[in-house]
Amino acid sequence: MNSGIVCKALEPFGTTIFTEMNALCSEAGAVNLSQGFPDFEGPDSIKECAAKAILRGPNQYAPSQGIPSLREAISGKVKRFYGVDVDPESEVTVTAGATEAISSALLGLLEPGDEVILFEPCYDLYPPMVARAGARAVYVPLERPGFSLPEGRLKQAFGSKTRLVIINNPLNPLGKVFTREELDFIGKLCTEHNVIALSDEVYEHIVYDGRVHVPLFQVPSLKDRSIVVSSTAKTFSMTGWKVGYSIAPPGLTKAVRMAHQFLTFCTPSALQEAMAMAMAMEDSYFEELARSYTKKRNMLSSALEAIGFQVLWPEGTYYTSISIKGSGFEDDMEFCRYLTREVGVAAIPCSYFWNGRRGGRDLVRFCFCKKDETLEAAIERLERWRS
Ligand code: PMP
Ligand code: GLN
Repeated sequence: MNSGIVCKALEPFGTTIFTEMNALCSEAGAVNLSQGFPDFEGPDSIKECAAKAILRGPNQYAPSQGIPSLREAISGKVKRFYGVDVDPESEVTVTAGATEAISSALLGLLEPGDEVILFEPCYDLYPPMVARAGARAVYVPLERPGFSLPEGRLKQAFGSKTRLVIINNPLNPLGKVFTREELDFIGKLCTEHNVIALSDEVYEHIVYDGRVHVPLFQVPSLKDRSIVVSSTAKTFSMTGWKVGYSIAPPGLTKAVRMAHQFLTFCTPSALQEAMAMAMAMEDSYFEELARSYTKKRNMLSSALEAIGFQVLWPEGTYYTSISIKGSGFEDDMEFCRYLTREVGVAAIPCSYFWNGRRGGRDLVRFCFCKKDETLEAAIERLERWRS
């Protein structure tokens, strides 16, 4: 489109696959299992708290680093779930979603010429923001069949220019949960090469089958060199609010805040107040979240299996993926176009999570953060098609 107008760093990335699939979905009137957002509402108590805060006011700028009650609540939740002390004053920063926390970290830390290690598949935000920060992405593909950490290749990727490694745990799109051993291995290399680890943990509370999420600040070698980013979007089913945050030692927090003050300065104050309340919700809320997504994961994944697809059951996140090998389609985008237009179900082609779509063309992602009726409607369409 805007050739010659959009900056060189961003132009190659085009419009995101999420915008593209949403448009295709509404044009076709399909059931939308593409972009990851719930079609149900988060808790009323959170909405009521925000509504009250808006009516009561003040509705002015919040402190740039986030309102104290939310930073304290984030620190409290970290202590409750992970047993780690983080200082709300010097180590927590509230941002406009995880997206802005990650962007602020990259813009606040990177120098032109730095290298950033990215695992493939990786979330679509990282490559353009690394490029815009003037750095070079060095890709390390996770190893099939289980998408495990390729230790040898990772070791080779570290060099004198490496400044950062980005980890997304649990991993969007394939739902991998990194093991403690894998994180320790990354930590060892980061220590050896004096590299910072940036960890995107927005699905921290959505892990399955008794798995335990390990935030990077629990990895001893990474405690002093990691920035952990999370968001209230997935945990409280409010993706439209865009309240996220970073947790990092004071020096790294300073870099995040430096960029954050110029990107957005602050995040809407009423929404922060409501999220402070949400963070303190009982353990049962978080348990129910994982329980309910376990049911939805099982429902959609078993239906896809029964239809005849090989399913990559996720260990975390609210996405399940299938292999389209043997389906008559060679290309995931072609498959997704057909599925949306002819079958009436929209999904995400996974190759968009690989650099230049050079991998993952055999994989398609479906999101299951949907009402049971929505999942049933999608399953019915898929079954009708396959029979
Ligand atoms: N990281 C990952 C891995 C995601 O899937 C998403 C999508 N929600 C985000 C970051 C963005 O989070 P937020 O909406 O809080 O900016
Ligand atoms: N995280 C969402 C997903 O993976 C997309 C959010 C966005 O469109 N940026 O589906």
